[in-house]
Amino acid sequence: MSDGVHSGGCACGKVQVEARGEPYRVGICHCLTCRKLHGAPYSFYAAFPTDAVTITGEVATFASSEHGRRYFCPACGSQIYSHYSRPDEIYVYPGSFDEPARWQPSYELWTIRRDPWLPEFPSVVSRYEKDRPKWSRTEPE
Ligand SMILES: [Zn+2]
Ligand SMILES: [Zn+2]
Repeated sequence: MSDGVHSGGCACGKVQVEARGEPYRVGICHCLTCRKLHGAPYSFYAAFPTDAVTITGEVATFASSEHGRRYFCPACGSQIYSHYSRPDEIYVYPGSFDEPARWQPSYELWTIRRDPWLPEFPSVVSRYEKDRPKWSRTEPE
C-alpha cells in the first residue's frame, strides 16, 4: 500500500475497495435504515469524491430511499458503499478498510435515534437530530 491509497474489502474478499487521498468528511448515522442495514447501533462512513474510489468485484444494490442506493457483496452481505443525492460523492465505510482507526467521525446524524448507552465520541463536533439542515461538502460547517 502506497501513501494516500487505502485498501479494504468485504468479509469474504470477493469485493475490494480502494480509496485514494482523504475524504471530504467522516460521519456517523443513527437512522433506522443505517441501523438495520449494518445490524449495528449506527453506521460509520467516509464521503469521498466518487473518482477517488475504485470498487472491484460484483455488488448488489438496495434502494434505501428515493435517491439512496446501498451496495453490498451478494456473497457475504457486507455493506460496501452507498450513493445519495450527489453522484460526485461516494460513501465508503472505514470499518471495511485494512488499516484500523484511519479516520474519525466529526459529526453525527439522526441523534434522536442514538442509543442511550453509547458514550460521547470525542472527535464529534456537530450533532444533528435528523439530517443535516444545510448541505455542505465538509464538516464542521
Ligand atoms: Zn463478500
Ligand atoms: Zn442513516
